Amino acid sequence: MGEVLLISLLFLISVLVSPAIARKKGVYHVVTQGVTLYRISQTYKVPVGKLMEVNGLSSPSAIKVGSRIFIPGAKAVLRVEPYVALSPREKNDLERSLQTEEKPIRAESSPGTGRQRPPSRGNELDLIWPIQGKINSPFGPRGKNFHKGIDIASPSYQEVKAAMDGEVILARNSLSGYGNVVVLRHDAGFSSIYGHMNVIIAKEGEAVRQGQAIGGVGSTGKSTGPHLHFELRREGHPLDPLPLLPMTIEELLEKASKK
Ligand SMILES: [Zn+2]
Repeated sequence: MGEVLLISLLFLISVLVSPAIARKKGVYHVVTQGVTLYRISQTYKVPVGKLMEVNGLSSPSAIKVGSRIFIPGAKAVLRVEPYVALSPREKNDLERSLQTEEKPIRAESSPGTGRQRPPSRGNELDLIWPIQGKINSPFGPRGKNFHKGIDIASPSYQEVKAAMDGEVILARNSLSGYGNVVVLRHDAGFSSIYGHMNVIIAKEGEAVRQGQAIGGVGSTGKSTGPHLHFELRREGHPLDPLPLLPMTIEELLEKASKK
């Protein structure tokens, strides 16, 4: 009797486990306190989207303590560091840097501040456009100041998407500076910033996958109309995201027409 039960149980399990998973090699990682899908993705070098797909997750935050996450291709269970929120001081510094999206040009070119070096092309920084739209203010000198990001024109409420897999270190509603803003932390010291949003969907501490909606375009803070201020930083220093972004449809069309 027990044997029959065991066999039928094994049969049931084999039916339940997706054949795709059963065939592939990998390990199961059991989620512990503070571990996000982004952290797991970083540790095992598997994109968040891939982990979601393989595990049938509807959202990167659809995991909880005790969840078993299948890691395709992994040979051993690795230790995953939990998400660490910014310290009050780090948060304060970050908030202060979001008071104005411009900085004096002098500070930029003065010796000792360290000229930002753009990440090399071989860096495999896989960025996507957070929204579709025309750039109406590029990165760089703007009047007497230096614009720390790019302004992308857009109607209100267009979905703002995470440019890369990452984790939300700040989701702040404010009437000044960058307005309602989300800051994502990525690997290799990169962070990305999305300003002037109308609504914020992302929550601090959550993992986001590339392309996931984190809010909607707006005109909050110091802004003259709906647009997205998009900024990329490395170790806290703004750099021009444009060379790292894929070509726009306009650029592709222009290129095609020149041939
Ligand atoms: Zn801007």
